[in-house]
Order: sequence, then structure tokens, then C-alpha cells
Amino acid sequence: MQYDLEKIKAQFPVLNRKIWDKPLIYLDSAASMQKPQKVLDAINNNYSFSYSNVHRGLHKLSEEATSNYEGARLKISKFINCSEKEIVFTSGATAAINLVAYSWGLKNISAGDEIIITIAEHHANIVPWQLIAQQKGAKIIAAQVNPEEDFDAEIIKKLVTDKTKIIAFPHVSNVLGTVFPVKELCKIAKECGAISVVDGCQGIIHGTVDVKKLGCDFYCFSGHKLYGPTGIGVLYGKYEILEEMPPFLGGGDMIDIVKINQSTYADPPLRFEAGTPPIVEAIALGEAIDWVVETDIDRIGKHEKNVISYGMSILTSIQGVNIFGTAPNKTGVISFTMDCAHSHDIATIIDREGVAVRAGHHCAQPLMDAFNLVSTTRASVGAYSSNQDFDKLGEALTKVKKIFGV
Ligand code: PLP
Repeated sequence: MQYDLEKIKAQFPVLNRKIWDKPLIYLDSAASMQKPQKVLDAINNNYSFSYSNVHRGLHKLSEEATSNYEGARLKISKFINCSEKEIVFTSGATAAINLVAYSWGLKNISAGDEIIITIAEHHANIVPWQLIAQQKGAKIIAAQVNPEEDFDAEIIKKLVTDKTKIIAFPHVSNVLGTVFPVKELCKIAKECGAISVVDGCQGIIHGTVDVKKLGCDFYCFSGHKLYGPTGIGVLYGKYEILEEMPPFLGGGDMIDIVKINQSTYADPPLRFEAGTPPIVEAIALGEAIDWVVETDIDRIGKHEKNVISYGMSILTSIQGVNIFGTAPNKTGVISFTMDCAHSHDIATIIDREGVAVRAGHHCAQPLMDAFNLVSTTRASVGAYSSNQDFDKLGEALTKVKKIFGV
């Protein structure tokens, strides 16, 4: 069956917008995906007609909200092939990694232990480990990444010692687009007795994720990057690991019995969901996942990969454009610099042509440092992106060159 791009685009109201009187060309999907009408309707309908707090209420509305909230958990568990008891709702990927760092890390990391990451991490998969390492006297070891090659799992294998406790890595780099060999890396972690933590933010949006097949201990992602709302994220954790973890945040809903001086706690996942959760956001993420399943995530991923390879051909044909991240199997994003202009100038100028891209360090300063870059401009795609978007980007970059007299 053909990928019906026009039908998909028609479901995203924002794509009808004009920016500075020009049609919007949205090439900033890695930062946050736009939302289809189905998700927008779910947010509106749930706040309008089915809204109440969850879990504690005995009235109809609360029962309905609880059933919708728990229904979203079930949908997500089916989407990534695990039990719903292994899905913890968080406010996003950042919160999910912090949860693992503070709960699992503080309990299990000791002085001298080693945490392996890569130089291509988003800060969300660096700083939480640093905070724990500093408290416990542990060490962070960072694997090198060659921006021109697919990542070789052997690089991590060589860093493993008997002190390795955690191996944390991205599914897909948000700067380079490099796809990491998740299954092999999780196997390495398992063999050395460490836990694997996969930052799935840029991976889950491009293809099927089966956490059982991948063999990961933890896999997390943010709802807003998967066509859902902000304020909601998911931490998948193997149940036997979650079960042994102490609470991270304390409060309502995560307890069993509370006395003045001590409490007992609920079983996972509720043990890790203190306070009123982002109810409607979770339900709307469930709708986003319905949308992604109906549209077919693997077909979306294939389409995006085609668009990225077209985009690479356009950008490499413009003299003075240098692409950062050329691994053969890359997906999702194209980062680049221009000889004639700073990335902030590029982004500002092409915005006037209606083209939205991101410029900066992309929360990946160690990666920038490793290659003596201060910033790049990044074009990134979603289900609704097209080759024409890159034609427009190419035209806009030619204008940038003109403005800078080249
Ligand atoms: N990890 C990666 C690879 C990302 O791209 C991002 C967001 O850009 C994050 C983590 C953090 O996500 P959030 O800010 O939604 O928690």
C-alpha cells in the first residue's frame, strides 16, 4: 500500500498555518512532533466531558477517568510489548532517567563503580548519572562515537570492567541520527551484570520497539515527541527490577499504609507515580499511539528515512554546507553547519521563509565539544514531512548564502 502523505498531512491542523505569510515548513519534529486532530480532540473531549481525578474516586466520572488513564497504560504496554505493570508514567524522558538514577542508582551504585554512556547523549542521559556518580563516588565513562559510521557495539564492550553497573545510551542520536544497536548493547549489559538504560526519545518515533526482543532493562521516551502532549512520558522497566526499587518521589497514590513515622508503598508502577498524575496527557498519549498504530509506525519510519536521504542529497549539493552525522543507517535528523553563517543566523533567516529548524547545541554539548563545534542547524522529520520540505529548505539556504554575499 502506498504511503498517503496528503491524507496524513491533512490530519495536522498546524500544517495549514502560514508563517510570515509563507506556508509552514516544519522541520523541527525531533524537538517536538506536531499533533494530529485525533490527539487534539482527545485532549479537548477528556477535559470537557470525562475529567476527574483518578484512582481514589468512587463516582462515575472518576471511574471513567481512571479507566481511560489505565487504558492508556495498557495501550502503551501493547505498543512496546510488555506488561502494563512495567509502564510507569512520568512527566517525560528526563524525569524517567532521573527516576532510574535516583531510585535504582542511589540504592545500587557504590564508590568506584562505573557508568558507561556515549559522547552522543542528550544532557538528559548525562546529568542524572553525574548527580548520582558525584554523590556515590562513581565514575562516568563515555564511549566515542564516529559521526560518519554506524555505531559498533564493540566500542562499549571494550569499556566494560567488573565495575560497570549501568550502560546508558540513545536508541537514535538527536544530533547525528545514528541508530544504536540496542539489542547488542543490552546483551553486553546483561552479560556483565549491569543494567541497560535506553533513551528511546528519538527511536520510538521511527519504528517498532519491542522491549522484550531488545532485552532492555529500562527504555524511556517522551509523549510530545510521539505525536502526544507535553507533560507525559513513559519509563518501561523490567518488573523484577522495578519491584526492588525504592520510591523516588513520595506523596499520594504511591503508598500502601502511611503512619506518622513510616509508610509502606504501593507495588509498581504506582509506587513511582506520586501525586495527581498528568491524567488527560496520558490518555491523549494513548490516542497518539492509536494514531501511530493505525498509520503504521514502520511505514512512517520508512517514509521518514526516504525523506532524510532525499534531504541529504539536497543539502550535500549546496556548496558551503557541511553535514554532521553521515552514518549509513541514519534516520530522523540532518545536522549541518554553513561556512558563511552561524547556525542561529541560519535559523532566523530561514524562519522568514516559513522554514522551522532548530539551531544550537541540541542539549548535546559533549558531542559538540568532541568535534570542536559550538552549534549546528538541525532539520528533523515526522510522518508528515516530505521531499518538498527539503526543496524549500534548500531554497532558503541559498538565500542565506546570498545575504552573506556568497
Ligand atoms: N533524549 C533525547 C535523545 C532527546 O532528543 C530529548 C529531547 O530532545 C530528551 C532526551 C529529553 O526529552 P524531554 O525534554 O521531553 O524530557
